[in-house]
Amino acid sequence: MLAAVIPIAGREFLPVRSALGRILAADIVAPHDVPAHDNSAMDGYAIRFDGLAADGESRLSVVGTAFAGNAFSGMVGKGQAVRIMTGAVLPAGADTVVVQEVARSEGNEVMVPPGQCKGQNTRRAGEDLARGTVALAAGKRVGPAELGLIASLGVAEVEVRRRLRVAFFSTGDELASLGKPLAPGEIYDSNRYTLHGLLTHLGADIIDMGVVADQPQALEAALSEASQVADAIITTGGVSVGEADFVREILGQLGEVKFWKLNIKPGRPMAFGKVGKAWLFGLPGNPVAVMVSYTQFALDALLRLSGLDPLPQRPLLTVAAANAIRKQPGRREYLRGTVVAVDGCWQVKTAGNQGSGVLRSMSEANCFVVLPEACAGVQPGDQVAVELFEGLF
Ligand code: AMP
Ligand code: MG
Repeated sequence: MLAAVIPIAGREFLPVRSALGRILAADIVAPHDVPAHDNSAMDGYAIRFDGLAADGESRLSVVGTAFAGNAFSGMVGKGQAVRIMTGAVLPAGADTVVVQEVARSEGNEVMVPPGQCKGQNTRRAGEDLARGTVALAAGKRVGPAELGLIASLGVAEVEVRRRLRVAFFSTGDELASLGKPLAPGEIYDSNRYTLHGLLTHLGADIIDMGVVADQPQALEAALSEASQVADAIITTGGVSVGEADFVREILGQLGEVKFWKLNIKPGRPMAFGKVGKAWLFGLPGNPVAVMVSYTQFALDALLRLSGLDPLPQRPLLTVAAANAIRKQPGRREYLRGTVVAVDGCWQVKTAGNQGSGVLRSMSEANCFVVLPEACAGVQPGDQVAVELFEGLF
């Protein structure tokens, strides 16, 4: 999937604040040094290091004051000091700041104890970012730190990728929409709501196409309509091997299809392909399987489509299992679990009902417990891999 998809080309210019959550389409190069001048990191006295006594205390005469935003315009000579505040430009001649707490003021003089180091308590021009260096590379997502960084460069407008357009619909004759009482055999369509949340957090422009019946013509119409307006289409349900599962068949007729049986649980069936210019992610129907296959497979492909580069590395942490977990060797399993601190040590306990339709397990959990294919069960205290939900959706 990652090899197949190419980032969308569209880009736009936005004022900095509006770029939050968006992906940079071009490098942001520092137009000047940050900080722009050598300045003081502390409140104290700016001095010349080579003007201090070789040993013992130095008596310096205070010749002026430098405030942040109001520099001292003179020169600091040997035997002189300038009272300086944090962020004030380091006066000419000074190379070192003695913190107020160790200096002793006596009238127009200040006593500096021995043991000072050349350059201490100063911030050098360009130490955060030197002029001309790439401050933020294209492909980076703009978060709070990036907003601040961009502002620190004095840049007011940034070029970002346009939002990814994602259309999605649920398939299933049993699905009822909210606001209607359930007829016998019906269930409420929850996948569309989960996807609404996932795709909104992704930063996509979403196109909710509702519920589509398990009929080849209806599916065909929905897929071709979606392919006209979206960069990516996400469907849920109908990709398995049941007699009402038509997504694979229709995809085959409309476009290019790759259909997989993934060796995971939950989320075995998944279709990936192309309808017109749109990529199609045919996710399973079971609500938990939707979230597993979205986070483990569709998410990175959607991020790559959006232009994110590099893709995030998501750490798998190792923690002790608080409870036993039954598992047959064969498939990789994504169980829902909660990482909790017990006596200062992190442990993970798995949610009670691990059924692939039990969405409550996703809501109560804060991580997936990822058990590898060969695993044949877990005993309490065994080390297991967990992937925290934070950052996945
Ligand atoms: P399917 O892959 O279409 O056979 O669906 C697998 C299971 O997921 C069935 O029990 C469906 O009723 C259920 N399911 C499918 N789509 C949804 C949905 N949108 N919301 C809630 N459950 C669903
Ligand atoms: Mg179905």
